Amino acid sequence: MPQEAQRNRRFVLASRPDGAPVPADFRLEVGEAPAAGPGQLLLRTVFLSLDPYMRGRMSDAPSYAAPVVLDQVMVGGTVCRVQVSNHPGFAPGDWVLAYSGWQDYAVSDGRGLLRLDGPHPPSWSLGVLGMPGFTATMGLLEIGAPRAGETVVVAAATGAVGSVVGQLARIKGCRAVGVAGGPEKCRYALDELGFDACLDHRAPGLAQRLAGACPDGIDVYYENVGGAVFDAVLPLLNPRARVPVCGLIAHYNDRDLPPGPDRTPLLLSTLLKRRIRMQGFIIFDDFGPRFGEFRQMMGGWLAEGAIRYREDLVEGLERAPEAFIGMLRGRNSGKLVVRVGPD
Ligand code: NDP
Repeated sequence: MPQEAQRNRRFVLASRPDGAPVPADFRLEVGEAPAAGPGQLLLRTVFLSLDPYMRGRMSDAPSYAAPVVLDQVMVGGTVCRVQVSNHPGFAPGDWVLAYSGWQDYAVSDGRGLLRLDGPHPPSWSLGVLGMPGFTATMGLLEIGAPRAGETVVVAAATGAVGSVVGQLARIKGCRAVGVAGGPEKCRYALDELGFDACLDHRAPGLAQRLAGACPDGIDVYYENVGGAVFDAVLPLLNPRARVPVCGLIAHYNDRDLPPGPDRTPLLLSTLLKRRIRMQGFIIFDDFGPRFGEFRQMMGGWLAEGAIRYREDLVEGLERAPEAFIGMLRGRNSGKLVVRVGPD
């Protein structure tokens, strides 16, 4: 059957940011949707995930992944409906987890797609059942290796990754201490996510307040942000503490290393004297084959009500740049997802 051409909106990278991204770094283009050829699928985006790593892809500084090419579509995880299928493994109407970027339509050969048919809303596969939930679970359980009775600290505590880290820490019998931006997020961490304490990093005296919230020191610091939070954590790390280094969002817009004295000797001597293990990881590079196992585990925790999840759903692809820029400043409340089209 001939395919009717559809209108495709897409955001391309217009310029590389100098410091914090601005709306002009993105350009909205409208064209014709591509057509699925033999063996291919046409995907229609319903949900687009916005994630901090996209800031790295906007820059051409050396990294673990190639940058987005200027004038090309912004990359991103998506949950799509199969609109047209010339592929034996998929039928029109199927929900799939894809990586088709900031646009309405994309063609796929089916490789790398995951069909979604579980009991949970499809968009959850961009969050608690997807890359951020996987990151939290592997980083905490495999690298952080928390034991009952220990103290686990995580910042960006109400976000996609941090909210799962804190709840898993509680499931493992640990004291979970969060750090978040503002009293409302801290209240949510305590009342809804079950953290034992949560500290506002925007209020003064973080180091003293963190020390008060961690009377037995810190055994696992799940690093999401760096910056002032790391400075407050470092003196409190216990001997044999573990530090999964997941992200450093406080530095993603830095142009250069911050000015000031070189703190490397302090960091290294702390690691040495307290025999601390600090390990960076990139989720799919380090744990990719375990994604299926993770989805089983997380599905179980969600079914039991042991893990709670909140999405910050933004309506409309045209709002993606402003929402992304806001996330880097802490304006999101929970996993940031854009609704691009109707179910
Ligand atoms: P979130 O949903 O937590 O959103 C980002 C949050 O970061 C903001 O809401 C804000 O929360 C916090 N933040 C921003 N700037 C600062 C700052 N200067 N100091 C302290 N907090 C700040 O994002 P994710 O859960 O998706 O990601 C969390 C981290 O995990 C990021 O660093 C990300 O890059 C990393 N990550 C790493 C992966 C890996 O493979 N290594 C994979 C996935 C994510 P608040 O208002 O509470 O401060």
